[in-house]
Amino acid sequence: PMNSTRENNVAKIKVVVRKRPLNKKELAKKEDDVVTVADNAYLTVHEPKLKVDLTAYVEKHEFCFDAVLDEHVTNDEVYRSTVEPIIPTIFERTKATCFAYGQTGSGKTYTMQPLPLRAAEDLVRQLHQPVYRNQRFKLWLSYFEIYGGKLYDLLSDRKKLCMREDGRQQVCIVGLQEFEVCDVQIVKEFIEKGSAARSTGSTGANEESSRSHAILQLAVKKHSEVKASKRNNDGNEARSGKVVGKISFIDLAGSERGADTTDNDRQTRIEGAEINKSLLALKECIRALDNDQIHIPFRGSKLTEVLRDSFVGNSKTVMISCISPGAGSCEHTLNTLRYADRVK
Ligand code: ADP
Ligand code: MG
Repeated sequence: PMNSTRENNVAKIKVVVRKRPLNKKELAKKEDDVVTVADNAYLTVHEPKLKVDLTAYVEKHEFCFDAVLDEHVTNDEVYRSTVEPIIPTIFERTKATCFAYGQTGSGKTYTMQPLPLRAAEDLVRQLHQPVYRNQRFKLWLSYFEIYGGKLYDLLSDRKKLCMREDGRQQVCIVGLQEFEVCDVQIVKEFIEKGSAARSTGSTGANEESSRSHAILQLAVKKHSEVKASKRNNDGNEARSGKVVGKISFIDLAGSERGADTTDNDRQTRIEGAEINKSLLALKECIRALDNDQIHIPFRGSKLTEVLRDSFVGNSKTVMISCISPGAGSCEHTLNTLRYADRVK
């Protein structure tokens, strides 16, 4: 009974908006901050507009979310209001997903990078609690990327991966390396290694990584004694464990990239179409989850297919929508907020 109480206390879907401060470039251009936050839940965008006769006016757009975090909120506070409450449920068969959504430069990576570190710290601490100590639980980490609809392992030299489903709605990414996490320092090293391996082209790191989804998973697995002795057969101990629960951290492709479908460059167009498809499919899946629909349209994209087992059963979803405060980003900001609004 204690377990179910704990689970019921955590919303199945939580939509949070995070506003970053104006950056140096925006300050240098004397851009106005057009986003105001009230009561940690309400947000107004003051959109500068021009009438036909070119007189300026401001159109107000108001939104309400589960939480709105303003530019003074630290990463630590972000963790506490999004991921921390979910951690205990991971040991009770929950598959959780935490997304960062928003235009390139809005703070997705800044927000996402520290979260798995804090989560791993809490998960490792839980593993050592007296109730779990004799359960043969272990924590495993994997980190991969979806780029142009294909999967790459960020922790083994961008090895190309493929996906397989078993008959029990379990997703298996063939060949994906998983690493045991015993302490938090190692997680830091994996995050750094994986992030350095993200797609980078001649145009620079942020440019290219904005076209890929990066997925870091922490899985708690239960290892039976019998199977542990068989692990030498394929040299993969992680595979011998049964997933108890897991949490996926997803640094999504820049939301504006989904509009790259008319770009002059063919490759950019293809990638744009893929991103557009995956962000739409993601929205549909979360909405279906929210409505307790039996059928979750996960086949809409590679991203949602990969997350299939996180969309069934005990699932928890946190969407962190990142927004830029500058007047120049107004259109993208409104698009991001409308997407987040529709997810709810
Ligand atoms: P994205 O991943 O969405 O493209 P980044 O996370 O790389 O964006 O953020 C863009 C820049 O803004 C980075 O230099 C980052 O350090 C900075 N930044 C983002 N969010 C914040 C924040 N809340 N506070 C301070 N700096 C931030
Ligand atoms: Mg980024």
